Amino acid sequence: MGALLNEIMKRTKDIISIRLLRRSKRQQALSGLRDLGLWGLQINAQGHIAVGEEDVLDLAQRFGTPLLVVNGKRLKKDAADIMGAMKKAPAGSQVLYSYKTNCIPGILREMHDLGIGAEVISPYELWLAEHLGLPGDRILYNGVDKNEESIQQAVRLNVMSINIDHMEEIERIQKISRQMNRKVRVGVRLGLVPSSQFGMEIETGEALEACQRVASLRENMELCCIHFNVTSNARSAWTHKTCAKKAAEFIARVKQETGLSIEYLDIGGGFGVPTSKNMTSVEYAIYRSLGILPRPPDPADFQPINSFLGEILICIGEECRVRHVEMPKILIEPGRFLTSRSEFMLAKVLTVKHKMNGTWFAITNAGRLSITYPLDFEYHEVFLADRPNARLNSSYQIMGRVCTSADWMLKNRLLPDLIPGDILAVMDAGAYFSSYSTNFSFPRPPIVMVDEGRAELIRQGETFEHLTAMDRV
Ligand SMILES: *Cc1c(COP(=O)(O)O)cnc(C)c1O
Repeated sequence: MGALLNEIMKRTKDIISIRLLRRSKRQQALSGLRDLGLWGLQINAQGHIAVGEEDVLDLAQRFGTPLLVVNGKRLKKDAADIMGAMKKAPAGSQVLYSYKTNCIPGILREMHDLGIGAEVISPYELWLAEHLGLPGDRILYNGVDKNEESIQQAVRLNVMSINIDHMEEIERIQKISRQMNRKVRVGVRLGLVPSSQFGMEIETGEALEACQRVASLRENMELCCIHFNVTSNARSAWTHKTCAKKAAEFIARVKQETGLSIEYLDIGGGFGVPTSKNMTSVEYAIYRSLGILPRPPDPADFQPINSFLGEILICIGEECRVRHVEMPKILIEPGRFLTSRSEFMLAKVLTVKHKMNGTWFAITNAGRLSITYPLDFEYHEVFLADRPNARLNSSYQIMGRVCTSADWMLKNRLLPDLIPGDILAVMDAGAYFSSYSTNFSFPRPPIVMVDEGRAELIRQGETFEHLTAMDRV
């Protein structure tokens, strides 16, 4: 009886899988993402993917694979777009890059040269921002684990705000303020999503209590910022608007209860890109259990950043007007929006295996346990570097090179027929690929920036000596 039930369950699962797989293949074939122009890339005379004049196959030859490639021109365009959209915000508003998204000095420097500041979430990131020569008034310190040394450093730099995540931080900052005899500019992070561990909630009264506590310490602290960060890869302004409204309402409440005017409303990051998407929990469950990719995002569904930010700013202005408080300066902390699209990853197909159950495996030199971890829960486009428009013919299990079956890159991915030596270009590698990367059995890859016809290493690949540099050997 049990065996029969098992058999029925298995058959049903197979039937559902086959149907969903067929649908997924259709969706992949018809995807609106099969256009390299979305990433500012070209196809050159040889029919290869190119970054301006630079053929990516030449890059793979010169620098080896796996390789991360940053397209400098695209990076500047995305930066210009979001800074342009912020022109409608009150004077003194700022764009701060979320360091954790892609914490590569060569990229951060580029960003700072364009006038973008730093949003840091750890003592290391704060150290790096100072190391890169950024002045304190362009650095904002967030995070849940700010140790004493880093708070001292932030106070010495006179950063724009240290955003308090939980009550205990208030006393720690106060102690340091007293020791250093310096008044510290702080913010309070709101916890607007009950399922997240960050910030303090409005409803429980904790957020207001934190503000009142800071207000009572006015010798040591100045409350200058209210902060939230609630989503990632949002495709429209809806979530930000809902939260911004609550935050503006809260700012009015703080004014009423403490008399303090808040200088900055920091609405965090989470601004999405049209070229990748985060899986919903159902899509993720289906991908993990049946290996079926979700429907690709449709770039046409994406709200352009100008209107995205424009709507949020209008919403905040409106709420402030109704509540008779002055509109604060706005801070945004984009990560993904600024760097996702300007970077891609090149990986080589090492071999292709056909199993007797009909599965095709392509073994490559990059997988989720080394570089492509975000592909685990995000949909990303993939092209073949030397024939990007070849017909999508076969479904592959694209694997990495770490010796465990858990090192996949993509399951049931429709691609042109692959042969050993093919170079895959995985798009949107500029958000969280390097951050999550590991040196599980293989050193981490180099990163090259292509700009104005020049390809330059901005990070060399790790060597075996790097891997043991901290060990007693
Ligand atoms: C990660 C993070 C961001 C950036 O998020 P994106 O979704 O990449 O834009 C901004 N602010 C804070 C506090 C973060 O933790």
